[in-house]
Amino acid sequence: MSSQKLVELAKRRGYFLQASGAYGGVSGFYTFGPQGAALKGNVEDAWRDRFAVKEGNQEIDAPTIMPEPVFEASGHLDTFDDMLVECAECGATHRADHLIEDNTELEDAEAIPISEVEALIAEHDLACPACGAALAGESVEEFNLMFGTNIGPGDSAPGYLRPETAQGIFVEFPQLKEYARNQLPFGVTQIGKAYRNEISPRKSVIRTREFTQAELELFIDPEEDEPDLARVEDVEVTLYPVPQQQDDDGEPITTTIGAAVEDGTIASAWIGYYLGIAQRWYDRVGIDMDRFRFRQHLPGELAHYSVDCWDAESELDGDWVELTGFAYRSDYDLSKHGEYSDEDFTIFKQYDEPKTVERATVDPDMSYLGPEFGGAAGEIADALEALAERDRSAFEGDEVSVEIDGETYTIPVEKTGFAVEEVTEAGEHITPHVVEPSFGIDRVLYTILAHSYREDEVDGEERTYLELSPEVAPTFVGVFPLMDKEGLGELAEEVATDLREAGLSVAYDDSGAIGRRYRRQDEVGTPFCVTVDYEALEDGTVTVRERDSTEQVRVELDDLVETLTALRSG
Ligand code: ATP
Repeated sequence: MSSQKLVELAKRRGYFLQASGAYGGVSGFYTFGPQGAALKGNVEDAWRDRFAVKEGNQEIDAPTIMPEPVFEASGHLDTFDDMLVECAECGATHRADHLIEDNTELEDAEAIPISEVEALIAEHDLACPACGAALAGESVEEFNLMFGTNIGPGDSAPGYLRPETAQGIFVEFPQLKEYARNQLPFGVTQIGKAYRNEISPRKSVIRTREFTQAELELFIDPEEDEPDLARVEDVEVTLYPVPQQQDDDGEPITTTIGAAVEDGTIASAWIGYYLGIAQRWYDRVGIDMDRFRFRQHLPGELAHYSVDCWDAESELDGDWVELTGFAYRSDYDLSKHGEYSDEDFTIFKQYDEPKTVERATVDPDMSYLGPEFGGAAGEIADALEALAERDRSAFEGDEVSVEIDGETYTIPVEKTGFAVEEVTEAGEHITPHVVEPSFGIDRVLYTILAHSYREDEVDGEERTYLELSPEVAPTFVGVFPLMDKEGLGELAEEVATDLREAGLSVAYDDSGAIGRRYRRQDEVGTPFCVTVDYEALEDGTVTVRERDSTEQVRVELDDLVETLTALRSG
């Protein structure tokens, strides 16, 4: 199946279409039509059911625009860049690493310094995909992917559309920890829009500028909290770890989650746990497990916040596409927000019993720092205090030095009032670590459609259908009167109303030959169709046709709602 066929079907049947088409459309923005919006809703419900409800996590809904200081702290302002190369001939802009990936064996250009990317473009004689002009000699620049805006009139309060939903969770941590009664581990989820000003949006909804993420941020105490691996240890997975990727013939390995965590292929048990839970979920929503794998990030590919990361990838048109990132974000985000804001992003961890510990301090009264230190005295005192806590040995000699903004200050140790005393502590403040499964709903949706796309022949005619699972199928049942006369139409409408009242999504269709109506619903992926024919008037039965087998059975009208409701819930 070519992606073009799928994109055409998506538009024809109401899954998705390029947005603002009346004005020529803008790349990277899509509107989900009636079927697409319903499928998306079903996928989000299935995600919520698994990752919020069944995992015992709490869902929140934060704003999509956030003020600049959030992204200064998170590192996105400085580092959330892609490499941009502009064609001098036609002005088209391209993502440098995509040009290189598409034209050479090289992956992972993001990790390479700009000068090397420029050299690779020259070495491989890469040409502008838009006009064919040579790109050698063009300079490559870093381009920040965040959409900026101003909050309120004027430009005194810059803000950004969030590039990931996660930051909306992290910034609320001081309050979220209260909801969790300061007990680790706890998880917070969010499903919502994220925005990235992608240099070259492509592959329809796979790479867009506005998309939906479903993210789970699990806050853990890295020293104490362990996942319940027994729940997923038998899940079979295809893994593509770093060593395999670095070997020319490296083949993915098939193993179980339990074995992969035990032998260290998956270094974090938490990541292993979520890969297992997620694999079952992908299977449940209809992703083909034979076209699915988990790939570990190469070291240079890791995002600025990430210590280890695995991607769930699906095969689409011969390419592997990332659906979900599973990142071990360590204490990066909470530490940064703690540092940049006035709030407390730690958790107080109570010891089982109070502990007597040694604590190194310096004189809290800064008078030992005479007038010669001027305005720097406060910062020097803070730095000395932090140093005493961190590294007592620095105070072993006669003098101790601290560096502030590139300047070194040296102070005689005896003046600092350095002392080590014994104190009894009830607990300590720790910054939780974060484990994050981050799903892109649009890519999951596209993969579900691509992996369920089928072509076969029915009664000598070619047909296309989507083999969607009843849980996610946007329309569950088509209802057709054979003809709209002699009471068949009225009866069929009653049937449709009863099914809708029972919570099933129904497409009522009374136009065209019955065969055509079946084909339409097949293309939408509707699992069942009910036809109300003359027999219904005589014996109170209707035909129920199953989409994949096209088999038909007669069902009593009185049992119809119950029969179909049971099929919906599997
Ligand atoms: P890519 O390498 O494809 O740009 P990424 O590694 O930057 O993706 P993450 O930051 O890990 O992506 O985001 C988590 C998920 O959000 C991805 O797995 C993907 O499903 C989705 N996502 C990211 N960027 C886009 C986009 N431009 N369009 C649609 N979905 C996206």
